Amino acid sequence: MIENYVRVSSIKEALEIKALHGAEAGYLAGGTEINRLNTQHPFAVVIDLQDLGLSSIAEDGNGFELGSCVTFQQALDWKSVPAAFADALRYAGSRTLRNSATIGGNIASGRPDSYLLPFLTAAKVRLILADIGSEELEHEESVPIREFAEHSEMYRDSLIVRIVFDKPGRFAASQRFSKSIQGAVSLTAGFGADFSDSDARPLENVRIALGGTGVGNYEGGMVYRLPDIESALSEGVIRTAAELQKAVSEATAAVSDFTGSAEYKKYLAGTAVAQLYSRGLEKAGRGSDL
Ligand SMILES: Cc1cc2nc3c(=O)[nH]c(=O)nc-3n(C[C@H](O)[C@H](O)[C@H](O)COP(=O)(O)OP(=O)(O)OC[C@H]3O[C@@H](n4cnc5c(N)ncnc54)[C@H](O)[C@@H]3O)c2cc1C
Repeated sequence: MIENYVRVSSIKEALEIKALHGAEAGYLAGGTEINRLNTQHPFAVVIDLQDLGLSSIAEDGNGFELGSCVTFQQALDWKSVPAAFADALRYAGSRTLRNSATIGGNIASGRPDSYLLPFLTAAKVRLILADIGSEELEHEESVPIREFAEHSEMYRDSLIVRIVFDKPGRFAASQRFSKSIQGAVSLTAGFGADFSDSDARPLENVRIALGGTGVGNYEGGMVYRLPDIESALSEGVIRTAAELQKAVSEATAAVSDFTGSAEYKKYLAGTAVAQLYSRGLEKAGRGSDL
């Protein structure tokens, strides 16, 4: 239960209060996760971020950056929002939720059924994190979202300040499967790659990220990747969409639950990743198979 609400006016103040209270304290962004019934984030102290100026979007020749408190709806309404990012933002089907839920809050929540993590992992975004050191000095570091997800314990006190999309030429997209737009998700799959003109190495930096109810490392939270298949694609060991579909289905760790059987989720994972791969190839002008 929330016992202490603090509205901070600087990042340093937010970090100091977090350091003082440790796991008892949490950052309050949109509050849709913290305040929901049966939340996994039951903080006694909440640190309200609304006065920190983290709600702007900036664009330059190398991509764009979102303040961590940019809401789903604000990002959707932005004139330059990439189509695949807009698709992922719309997975939050309720406009009321989108008006409050923030991008930073979604990443930090680390839910295995996250709306955004499969896409953001595929897009290889970077997070600008603020922390406070042993001498109470505030500092920022730029961390790949992959690392943030894999070592979430290390970053549990960090404040996400900005989300950086700095790979404008990269292909990244995701697909989500649920019985209804606001229903529990069976599976969300993200696929991203840098396609090149080189026939020797036509795609690099492949990312395959899966999440959903009962998919993968559910206890550990977050979405998970298939690094062996990512390498096999980059190295040309897997070349066709059919080979990819089979490999992903076999590698997907899923359990049966009310959103579908394990076999169904494995099938969804394989077909979704293979379709996203084909879309990437077509966009790069390489047909539908290598
Ligand atoms: C009915 C309902 C259904 C939902 N279904 C889904 C779903 O299917 N998938 C899904 O992904 N989410 C779901 N959510 C949860 C939620 O709406 C989103 O994850 C949302 O993006 C969380 O953002 P927020 O700003 O509201 O976070 P908050 O509730 O404010 O915070 C959530 C967590 O993130 C931390 N945090 C917030 N901002 C930062 C920051 N800048 N830096 C570091 N830590 C931070 C907080 O300390 C807290 O631990 C659902 C919520 C509701 C009410």
